[in-house]
Amino acid sequence: MSAPVLVVDSLHCSYRPRRGGWFSRATEVNAVRGVDLQLHAGRIHGLAGESGSGKSTLARALVGLVPIRRGAVRLSAPEAGDRQAMDPRRLVQLVFQDPSAALSPRRTVAQTLEEPARHFGLPSNRDHLAATLASVGLEASALDRLPRQFSSGQRQRIALARALICEPRVLVADEALASLDVSVQARILAVLRTLRDERQMAILLISHDLAVLRENADRMSVMYRGRCVESGPVETVFGRPAHPYTRQLIDALPRLQPGAASPAELRLPLPGIAAREPDSGCAFRWRCPEALARCSREAPVQTAVSGAPDHHVECHLQEETP
Ligand code: SF4
Repeated sequence: MSAPVLVVDSLHCSYRPRRGGWFSRATEVNAVRGVDLQLHAGRIHGLAGESGSGKSTLARALVGLVPIRRGAVRLSAPEAGDRQAMDPRRLVQLVFQDPSAALSPRRTVAQTLEEPARHFGLPSNRDHLAATLASVGLEASALDRLPRQFSSGQRQRIALARALICEPRVLVADEALASLDVSVQARILAVLRTLRDERQMAILLISHDLAVLRENADRMSVMYRGRCVESGPVETVFGRPAHPYTRQLIDALPRLQPGAASPAELRLPLPGIAAREPDSGCAFRWRCPEALARCSREAPVQTAVSGAPDHHVECHLQEETP
């Protein structure tokens, strides 16, 4: 595999959630607690985990929207160019779940695409804007319309086009498919696979939907309480999950097939989440059916799964495997 385009090295991020009154003091949440991750050109890396696992904080930290408390995010040296061309704010783009976060209701699609292109000194003529729209399956006639004149799926494609006009090397899609119906999801996933295969883009695909990751990602990580508890090639993680949490997620997957559950059931978390702050032991021990005595005293460290050096897990069970 080629050298990674983006390396996340022992990243720690925290934030204070907003509370009701002006004078109320919120406790700081350690949302990301020592995450390591590598993204490669021409690969989709899936990121799974239930709500509150730190996925979105990690995504925002990659684009500088959340301060980094410790650790680092490193982008490999891009092609030679001026400062704008090498700007990490151009090279790493984030697509949110809610496209309205990226689209001003008063700006036409053309204005929405022109602004970042001009800011970074990239082509912004109408033909180029139309070609970028075409790459996400929209026609040039969309350029003169306002966001409210589109469906939610089309708005998400415009948000994707706004990211692509910046010619990023890394695209972070944070639950970008979550509010879309299945047919629109399929179209956007097809666009992401094309970006991976034809533009050699590195993509971080964050989704609560394991079926989407299984079908579209090359590698994946599973986050729990701010840690990556398991990572490896998708077929290995699904075929031989090594962490009890990953096994629980995958065991729930048959219930998540279309027609087998209501939309409400399609979302993580699984039942039984413990609302406790992690302390000295394994953060998953309150829910773990296989917990050992040492799990309450010692936090597990990342270990290569026996016989699979490319597959890593944080669990004492693995350390005790002969
Ligand atoms: Fe379960 Fe212990 Fe492994 Fe944590 S370290 S997942 S509690 S067995």
